[in-house]
Amino acid sequence: MNSDGRVVIVGAGPAGIRAAQTLAAAGIRPTVLDENARWGGQIYRQPPAGSGFTRSKAALYGFEAKKADAVHETMRALLPQIDYRPDTLVWSCEDGRLDTLCNGQDASVPFTHLIIASGATDRVLPVPGWTLPGVYTLGGAQVALKAQGCAIGRRVVLAGTGPLLYLVAYQYVKAGAQIEAVLDTSAWSRQIAAVPKLISQPSTFAKGVYYVAWLKARGVRMMRGVTLTGIDGAQHVTGIGFKTSDGNEAVIACDAVGLGFGLRSETQLADLAGCRFHFDALNRCWLPERDAAGRSSVPGIYLAGDGAGIAGADAAELAGRRAALALLDDLGIAQQAQAAQPGGMDAATLERRLQRIAVFRAGIETAFAPPQQPAKQWPDDMTVCRCEEVDAGTLRRCIRAGEASEINRLKALTRIGMGRCQGRMCGEAASALLSDETGRPLESVGRLRSQAPIKPIPISPMLFDDDIAAIPEEARDE
Ligand SMILES: Cc1cc2nc3c(=O)[nH]c(=O)nc-3n(C[C@H](O)[C@H](O)[C@H](O)COP(=O)(O)OP(=O)(O)OC[C@H]3O[C@@H](n4cnc5c(N)ncnc54)[C@H](O)[C@@H]3O)c2cc1C
Repeated sequence: MNSDGRVVIVGAGPAGIRAAQTLAAAGIRPTVLDENARWGGQIYRQPPAGSGFTRSKAALYGFEAKKADAVHETMRALLPQIDYRPDTLVWSCEDGRLDTLCNGQDASVPFTHLIIASGATDRVLPVPGWTLPGVYTLGGAQVALKAQGCAIGRRVVLAGTGPLLYLVAYQYVKAGAQIEAVLDTSAWSRQIAAVPKLISQPSTFAKGVYYVAWLKARGVRMMRGVTLTGIDGAQHVTGIGFKTSDGNEAVIACDAVGLGFGLRSETQLADLAGCRFHFDALNRCWLPERDAAGRSSVPGIYLAGDGAGIAGADAAELAGRRAALALLDDLGIAQQAQAAQPGGMDAATLERRLQRIAVFRAGIETAFAPPQQPAKQWPDDMTVCRCEEVDAGTLRRCIRAGEASEINRLKALTRIGMGRCQGRMCGEAASALLSDETGRPLESVGRLRSQAPIKPIPISPMLFDDDIAAIPEEARDE
């Protein structure tokens, strides 16, 4: 099987790598596609080769250095057994075929079986001023440190909510950067209420407590239960305004803001592949359906890792293995695969471990829930969709005129989510605003349908040969 390269994995993060390892152990040679230049995914992201700076794994990954090393080395050892294609963006998926772009070259990659392990990105909710130069997503702030060895500013405020808030603060201070404040929109009482679930993963919980204590010991200002009111600045960030938990207004001067409200799954490929979606109350978003093994609603398509629902890197490794075992089972070669499993973990053990992590995950969502009804505070002139420059007032007028009560209709009428980000940045905000204006719950305003290309690509890969022939030769490079 797969001498014709028909088993494909999208994503070389923890989920994709463990899936590849499991398949390779059973004698399958999967094709592994990833748009990054190096394997590791988000958490175990490696600096680009020849990046000109060196930071040890201990400095880059902290407590996770051993795990990072294990994942990196697994992939290195796998290279002779897989068809690994880095720098390869998958921009579309349909009818047993992926469309990819690598160094400007488009290629069609057929598959009979596909594991989508596409991970997550930051969940972005806007605040006035969020489009100013100097505002980054929290994940972007971390990528700057991991991949480029630099901070996003000299005086940085990290704002929003989620465990990444404290982790990035810790990583920044450890690297010598100046963190002016950590502003958490989630209340302390919520975090206390989540403790019974959080201690189900004692070592992960202990790490979180350690980061906070470490930051406190170094005098880093941390405030919980704040309401962000706006990011100040004319040409660049100069400060961030907020209301404290007791209602006092305050501003902290800074030259950069890292903003994030947890993570959101990258689900577009599953959508284009025709997978059925359901509204997931825990993640507060639409996710592709999957069974405990990772099978989607489409035969031959499997989902693993954060791309199918946020659960963290340890869960991603387990889910990658589990999805690969399901695939092997469907090919009728599961037994030999289970015997070859590293650590001897069988399907039942993997599922049990994933269930335990799910308890912890519920605790994280309690502790760091994104703000409820955030759209109520958004002024009309605040940009919601920065690609197409659509502001909150435009959306409200359209909804109040009765022209749109469903998110795809709102998109068609205002162009929200039609730009370069394809709704990855603004989609949640648009849905929140629609829900707020119509008074209907988030799940009943619909789901933004994905469209190819899911990320910006040059126009040529989307054209047929006849279309290209019709373009004058001198204009083809433009
Ligand atoms: C920015 C960011 C920073 C994070 N930092 C931490 C951290 O410090 N500590 C922590 O515990 N957790 C962190 N997380 C969460 C953690 O990264 C995830 O839980 C874990 O990496 C999930 O593993 P995964 O394999 O599911 O996905 P990922 O590790 O995200 O890997 C997915 C891979 O798929 C590739 N991919 C996605 N779409 C395509 C496409 N269309 N074409 C080609 N390739 C594609 C990506 O390039 C990526 O390499 C972070 C998440 C994000 C988004």
